[in-house]
Amino acid sequence: MASSFRAAERLGRINPSPSTAAAARVRELKSAGRRILDLTVGEPDFDTPDHVKQAAIAAIQAGETKYTPVNGTPRLREAIRGSLRRTHGIEYSDAELTVGGGGKQVIFLALMATIDAGDEVLIPAPYWVSYPDMVRANEGTPVIVETREAAGYKVTAGELDASITDRTTWLILNSPGNPSGAIYTEAELASLADVLRRHPRVSVLSDEIYSEISFTGAPAPSLAAVAPDLRHRVLVVSGVSKSYAMTGWRLGYAAGDPALIGAINTLQSQTSSCPSSISQAAAAAALEGPQDFIAETVPVYRERRDAAVAGLSRIEGLTPLAPDGAFYLYVDCAGMIGRTTPDGRVLQGDQDVTLYLLDSVGVAVIQGSAYGQSPFFRISFATDLDTITSAVSAIGDAVAALR
Ligand code: PMP
Repeated sequence: MASSFRAAERLGRINPSPSTAAAARVRELKSAGRRILDLTVGEPDFDTPDHVKQAAIAAIQAGETKYTPVNGTPRLREAIRGSLRRTHGIEYSDAELTVGGGGKQVIFLALMATIDAGDEVLIPAPYWVSYPDMVRANEGTPVIVETREAAGYKVTAGELDASITDRTTWLILNSPGNPSGAIYTEAELASLADVLRRHPRVSVLSDEIYSEISFTGAPAPSLAAVAPDLRHRVLVVSGVSKSYAMTGWRLGYAAGDPALIGAINTLQSQTSSCPSSISQAAAAAALEGPQDFIAETVPVYRERRDAAVAGLSRIEGLTPLAPDGAFYLYVDCAGMIGRTTPDGRVLQGDQDVTLYLLDSVGVAVIQGSAYGQSPFFRISFATDLDTITSAVSAIGDAVAALR
């Protein structure tokens, strides 16, 4: 029977996430028997720490299996408060905190709560794939602000100033950034704060989901801490997915202006009511328990990063920039464009590069265009060192085979 499905206009404005699409393609090839070195994944390869799992089991057994308050259990909010105090030295009250089914959901609800048709959201490129689509889904206009490699892929005060209009509602800052791994220094945040003080209508969505996966020796600084006078204009978004290898638990949180938090809570009360009570118990244990997991995994990520950067730097035509945080490498592949593959195809853009790497040497990466800049590709090093070194050497073979 023919489907009578008719999509809302809203749906026509957005695309499925390209990283999810890449994951599906890798699964397809693997099930067809191909050996694929998968560098697309945006989640830690580590297992969730055991004390976190035990806390979830204990919660189930204690009957913590019912709806919780919309803004999370008091225990989880206390744990979030402690975590933000530890990482940023900021004290948040209860009314300034909320939780949701992942940082992703919290960001979506924050945009839904604040954007009217035509409102502009500044998104420095390269950006996490979901921001523009989330803005469009909520009838806003994403305004992409190009950053430069020379500035470490970070938006400068001048670029920010030049991009603000009467319609600008938000600036999205993501530090450490996906896909660049760039971390804004306190001085860089302070100069952005100077611009923001002159534009009181603009709020900042500070996506700090990778804040503790930092190779600088300290968590990435937050604008909310650097510019305390702007604190109510900064919505800090974070979660347990990345730092504690808890992507499947779906638990994120936000801290900011109580009026905005209240609006997010209203939307949440009409959508999911609250995130899973069991995940909340697990997240509380992650945030308030021993922090050894982060201390142990960050050096492992750093070792992988160093191996990948060293290997890729030796390949002619590729320019990797060593990231300060997160677990991605954004590789400039301009040197591959215009060259010809052994079967006679000319590589026109990073989509071609990605397909060539997959077909010729079985290495899966994501094309830079998905993140708003070309020609690049993104490598995730949230996978074991063997896979990374084999993949880097296979990429070297693929590049060497070009004419
Ligand atoms: N922000 C960024 C930059 C991300 O890369 C991700 C995950 N890919 C998220 C937010 C969302 O993470 P989660 O919903 O699992 O908390």
